[in-house]
Amino acid sequence: MSNFLFYQYSYGSDNYGVLVHDPLSSKTACIDVGDANKALNELKNQNLKLDEIWITHHHGDHTEGLLKLKQETGAFVYGPKQISQLINGLDKELTQGDEFTFSDQKVKVIHTPGHTTDMINFYLPNQNTLFSGDTLFALGCGRIFEGNPLMMWESLQKLMALPEETIIYCSHEYTLANAYFSISVDPTNQELKDRIKIIEGLRNKGLPTIPTKLGLELKTNPFLRVSNLEIRKNLNMIKETDSEVFEKIRLLKDNF
Ligand SMILES: [Zn+2]
Repeated sequence: MSNFLFYQYSYGSDNYGVLVHDPLSSKTACIDVGDANKALNELKNQNLKLDEIWITHHHGDHTEGLLKLKQETGAFVYGPKQISQLINGLDKELTQGDEFTFSDQKVKVIHTPGHTTDMINFYLPNQNTLFSGDTLFALGCGRIFEGNPLMMWESLQKLMALPEETIIYCSHEYTLANAYFSISVDPTNQELKDRIKIIEGLRNKGLPTIPTKLGLELKTNPFLRVSNLEIRKNLNMIKETDSEVFEKIRLLKDNF
């Protein structure tokens, strides 16, 4: 079983797309298509032929280039079971617990509603890799547009249950802004302070902070640390439920 290669490229103001490539079988998949030309460029740069497109959710910055890229490459398109809004061009709809095979390896589908109700994440257990879309970001989580805070918190818990060494590709470079919010609710977290220095160094050089790792997020991302006593003391929410603390942190971030 081979190690896949991951090529991350940027598009739009702060979006990331990723190509997944198996050097053994030469199969290639593309995660989301906000910009078909940027995806085609990256395929050309890496000298790859596209076989599959995996769509996480219906938002335009993840789907606008889908029909063009499908037409130009003939790729097979996986995407979420359509709930809130139609996505044109899907060949196969997926939901919680579904699995498919890419190359010779398993891809598990995790339904993570909250940002949108249709959101799915793609987990490759043999590669320890997750594509978290707009659900889990480095030091953040997606804004809740279609779901509610409890729904988002339950979705994040599905991701928190994955192995700590899981490498996470999310869809946006929001990390520095997320870092300044994180330290405001978790000001005594030394690992967070250390991480912010690293993030500032990367961003000063124009380098990506993505991918991240689940273990690092569990130690520094306030949205995953709602049971932490220091954070709860800081919010004056010692006795509230985890989902109530999550809701409060999400609200604070929306107004930060
Ligand atoms: Zn989105």
